[in-house]
Amino acid sequence: MLALATILSSNALAQDKDMDNILLAEWEGPYAGVPAFDKMEVDLVKPAMEKAMEMHLAEIDKIANNPEAATFENTIVPMEKAGKELRRVFTYYGIFSSNMSSPEFREVQKELSPKISEYSSKISQNEKLFKKIEKVYEDSKENPLASQEQRVIDLIYEEFAMEGAALNEEDKKRYAEINKELSKLYTKFSNNVLAEEENYVVFLEKDQLGGLPESYIKSAASAAEERGEPGKYAVTNTRSSMDPFLTYSDERKLREKVWNNYYSRGDNDDEFDNNEVIKNILKLRDERVELLGYDNFAQWRLQNRMAKNPENAMELMEAVWPAALARVEQEVADMQAIADKENAGITIEPWDYRYYAEKVRKDKYDLDSEEVKQYLELGNLTQALFFTAGEIFNFEFTPVEEGSVPVFHEDVNVWEVTDKSTGDLIGLWYLDPFARQGKRSGAWATTYRSYSELKGAKPVLASNNSNFIEAAEGEPILISWDDATTFFHEFGHALHFLAADVKYPTLNGGVRDYTEFQSQLLERWLSTDEVINRFLRHHETDEVIPDELVTKIKNASTFNQGFATTEFLASALMDMKYHTTDPDKIEPREFEKKTLEELGMPKEIVMRHRSPHFGHVFSGEGYATGYYGYLWADVLTSDAAEAFSEAPGGFYDKNVAQKLVKYLFAPRNAMDPAEAYRSFRGRDAKIDALMRDRGFPVPNEK
Ligand SMILES: [Zn+2]
Repeated sequence: MLALATILSSNALAQDKDMDNILLAEWEGPYAGVPAFDKMEVDLVKPAMEKAMEMHLAEIDKIANNPEAATFENTIVPMEKAGKELRRVFTYYGIFSSNMSSPEFREVQKELSPKISEYSSKISQNEKLFKKIEKVYEDSKENPLASQEQRVIDLIYEEFAMEGAALNEEDKKRYAEINKELSKLYTKFSNNVLAEEENYVVFLEKDQLGGLPESYIKSAASAAEERGEPGKYAVTNTRSSMDPFLTYSDERKLREKVWNNYYSRGDNDDEFDNNEVIKNILKLRDERVELLGYDNFAQWRLQNRMAKNPENAMELMEAVWPAALARVEQEVADMQAIADKENAGITIEPWDYRYYAEKVRKDKYDLDSEEVKQYLELGNLTQALFFTAGEIFNFEFTPVEEGSVPVFHEDVNVWEVTDKSTGDLIGLWYLDPFARQGKRSGAWATTYRSYSELKGAKPVLASNNSNFIEAAEGEPILISWDDATTFFHEFGHALHFLAADVKYPTLNGGVRDYTEFQSQLLERWLSTDEVINRFLRHHETDEVIPDELVTKIKNASTFNQGFATTEFLASALMDMKYHTTDPDKIEPREFEKKTLEELGMPKEIVMRHRSPHFGHVFSGEGYATGYYGYLWADVLTSDAAEAFSEAPGGFYDKNVAQKLVKYLFAPRNAMDPAEAYRSFRGRDAKIDALMRDRGFPVPNEK
């Protein structure tokens, strides 16, 4: 008895100790509770994560084993409410992995990642749970639910069914085997590409540096030193090294070599060759979706994307393709003219494109990026974001009282977001602006808490993260036009979180070819007169950026669009062809060659990602038959921007702004994206605006 009591009480003790873990604890403090970023520690992550996954699985089991007949109320509602501890731990996990990483954390991550995937398949493979979801779904086909409820059950059912939950035992087993096999092939594919990036390095001597910028030479020197070749200069086999080398190097023979190395990655007939890997991937993908009753992988993948099916995606790409090819012809002619004028005695080859394009750019669109920077000061730009949000979303941003909201680093600032008219609290906006060790590169947006009515309509906690270089004390932080555009872009994601008005957490989810559109659209406000005149001012003289400079920036945006669109589309079209063709008929090398020939690919351009190193498509599934999505979102962006530019109030038209928030931001995934867009625009998106933005002729327009 005593022994049992001891076990029980020590168990209880362990339980309490778990719940003492601050990462699991309910958020306290103002704004209906905020993350305890000031108290988080790496050591706490693993036990918190394990406990939270266990708790969520217990909740799911309880729902799955409920003896009552499944209803929306007793199945979907509790599923949507479950897992709150896990969501809290994931918030801290996200900060450790993106903002505050360390070798210790990466160890934890390595240990946890198989456990996380095991946990998630325990849910997606839970048969009893799926039976209940299926029952609710089928009942809803007889007696439709209210719109948000119907959308939730449709999305949840679809997600489970797409992952094979409806298969019989035998097929389920095969399905799991295929997935296991595929995940090995994905790793092999990306490791092969990585090996090829490391194995092909071009070392330059001092007399081979002609044309290269000082900054490039410096990093090439240290790259050579790292590889045991001090005194030389290394051009590594990666995009960030290849691209500037081909743009600036005067050494044509070396350009050809670097070009060949880069575009042959995974295609060298050696142990790292990826052609067989591609064949196997395509066969397994095809077999897997056949189990689910689909004709091909593309059809399965696109069913819950805005494009809905491969035909729609192909139709868009084929509409843009001829104009891109025509533009390439002009670009090549412009470049050839320069080469001839210089008596270069050459015909433009693929390894000449970037080099001569740069000469055309200097000739036609010369922009001094240092001069532009003088008008782009971070503090002013932050105010420009708030101004835009005020005009379009009716939001007001006020700094929170210093120290009232915990942060994970002293650089992070927090603002309170309220409705400008009513003063109602909407949420908080966290900004982590500067680069530092342990922070991942680039810029991104995230939420620590998303809005949903079901969860008590608490304030949203949204964040933006950038990698601006911190200036010396008292110096202004000046950023480039591209970085300012990205700042607006990521703020667009944050506004999308803050504007959310949905009932269920599932409706906060993103749709891959749709969620980038809202943030891309927000970029457009940076170059409106209202923002320019108020915020793009010289950091010393307070003078507004000159018109002439703004015109140059705008003109430069159509520069080299033939090249950019063609190299992108060639990859996107190939992605779709691979997944709509019988895999038994595919030998990747020949298939790529033949398909491009049929498309009329210009000889001066190569696919942005050739098949044997097309990681978006073959080192995982995220972008397989999804690469077209970038263009899809661009079409929506250009078309929606014209809704503003054509309106009486332009980009600040209250009417259009109201529709924008109501249909394109607030519903997130509570409305079918195509239907939401139609409500905003009064029609489907057309490609005409995109063609104008890229400087292409518009079909059927005189
Ligand atoms: Zn984005």
